[in-house]
Amino acid sequence: MGRKRRARRMARILAETHPDAHCELDHGNALQLAVATILSAQCTDKRVNEVTPKLFARYPTAADYAGADRAELEQLIKPTGFFRNKTTSLINLGQALVERYDGEVPGRLTDLVTLPGIGRKTANVILGNAFDVPGITVDTHFQRLVRRWEWTDETDPVKIEHAIGALIEKRDWTMLSHRVIFHGRRVCHARKPACGACTLAAACPAYGTGPTDPLAAKLLKGPRARDLAAAAGVDPDLVPAQAAAADVP
Ligand code: SF4
Repeated sequence: MGRKRRARRMARILAETHPDAHCELDHGNALQLAVATILSAQCTDKRVNEVTPKLFARYPTAADYAGADRAELEQLIKPTGFFRNKTTSLINLGQALVERYDGEVPGRLTDLVTLPGIGRKTANVILGNAFDVPGITVDTHFQRLVRRWEWTDETDPVKIEHAIGALIEKRDWTMLSHRVIFHGRRVCHARKPACGACTLAAACPAYGTGPTDPLAAKLLKGPRARDLAAAAGVDPDLVPAQAAAADVP
């Protein structure tokens, strides 16, 4: 099967498999998403979501970050790790937004990537989720899976973004990113993918990378682990209770 046809077929299955796919960083506006994305470097989304309610309440505007007391901000975001660098990024981001964009997060890739702490990946997350501009988010899961699925051989994130953009229709880019990342966190793990309990099994060129018997259902993760098993034609009772309760990476 041609690469594009196979990729689109897999994308359709992913859409059915993960109807709940969404940006896992809690946010209410573009600024909050930019801040949460900066905090998510080397940290789980869950940990970020534990920190942000207090943070967003204390610093509702870009001007608040620009004028933040460094020690106080550091304390608030400490649980996300690398808190000194992240504090610098947040203060610089606030200052740049105030100085150059009237305190608003701009809605264009070319502007976003000039902001402190915002690389192309973060910019695409913000565009796709806060501005409804289709964007492909090449994070570690996305990168790993599209290469495993032979959608591309590229290793550079920007080249991966363009290669996948040529395979999948633009209007689907943002949701595809969420679905691929969901699959990477819940089913297609780096070391031991749950091939025997995966809805993509029949279409996946990497089928067999992980165990292929139905007991692979034990490897499924997240609150919908039982649904994921059932969707793959596997007995949901094979999913241990703790797998369904476990945090996704
Ligand atoms: S079949 Fe295996 S390698 Fe392919 S997507 Fe599913 S879990 Fe990943």
